[in-house]
Amino acid sequence: MSEETLQPAASPAQHANGNPQTPAAKAAYLDLFDRSLDAIVLVALDSGKIIEANDSSEKILQATKETIEASWNIFDLPVPEALDEFRKMVRIASRRYHPKTFEVPLKVQSAEASKPMISQMALSPLKLSDGTEVLQFIVRDITKMKDYIKQIEEMATTDGMTGLTNFRQFSKLLEMEHARALRYRTKYAIVFCDIDHFKKYNDQNGHPAGDALLKQYAQILRSCVRTTDFPCRYGGEEFVVLLPQTDSDEAAMIAERIRSAVRETKFEHGEKQPLGFVSISIGVSAFPRDGADPKVVLKAADNMLYECKEGGRNCVKVSRGPEKPVIHHQG
Ligand code: GH3
Ligand code: MG
Ligand code: MG
Repeated sequence: MSEETLQPAASPAQHANGNPQTPAAKAAYLDLFDRSLDAIVLVALDSGKIIEANDSSEKILQATKETIEASWNIFDLPVPEALDEFRKMVRIASRRYHPKTFEVPLKVQSAEASKPMISQMALSPLKLSDGTEVLQFIVRDITKMKDYIKQIEEMATTDGMTGLTNFRQFSKLLEMEHARALRYRTKYAIVFCDIDHFKKYNDQNGHPAGDALLKQYAQILRSCVRTTDFPCRYGGEEFVVLLPQTDSDEAAMIAERIRSAVRETKFEHGEKQPLGFVSISIGVSAFPRDGADPKVVLKAADNMLYECKEGGRNCVKVSRGPEKPVIHHQG
């Protein structure tokens, strides 16, 4: 395709301000096309056939320009699962002047990440100087960037030491679960766990030993809850489990399972603890029984935990709304 036929149609802005002689308006489209680090391909409106590809297309789409221009169709690029959505986006974008941007997983490998490419496509119709309209696709490989974003999201929501959900994410999950419970008139429970005499454990055995215990304990917690529950590190040696669609009695059973699993585990240096073994105390509460607000429900579990500590530790106490707490188990 010659330089002549690649001149873009005048933009609405140019028509509006009546000044087509700005430096940008005077620049040749071909310069942009040739020098772009993104792949740019021009596609026939009716068939989807790629009629021209720029130099960067070779690197990004991993084929020579000759091959792309001779035999590629834009609708062959997405993975089959993404094709319907892609067709829809192309249909919408074809009717608009401003580019529409969307993410499309492609069949080709990403050169940067050596796995199937996630591309970001900016798509807009382009009127050539001979009056024909084509579709311009600007294709960027964002596979690596998506990986980074995923890592950052994971770091923002996970506790680095134990791999459990962190406090920030727990707070979000609790808000979401509460909203869901209100909307669908369902319930949820909170299991609030705290290691007994953990300061002593650190003092006697050193902080690294304390860290090792926390990691082992987090594994136990994970193994005791259901896949639909959310075990989280609340902070320090305090852990919470959010149990969607669960009432106090069901949560008490899971809390007891956690307490006894810890009690039965032979932790290193456990015998030096004041009770002669490593133990935890657990407070349990549930919505709607223990409060209309998630903070109040959480506080109810914390109150039960406090009572466990007062009562000698290594136990589970369940909040019963306005009634007196029930000692669920001890021993
Ligand atoms: P209680 O039975 O009343 O819960 O007593 P406790 O000693 O467990 O409670 P306290 O709040 O007095 O002490 C908590 C300790 O947890 C103090 C702190 O050094 C320890 N801790 C908190 N986070 C970490 C951590 O990441 N690593 C280690 N090794 N220790 C931690
Ligand atoms: Mg403690
Ligand atoms: Mg504590």
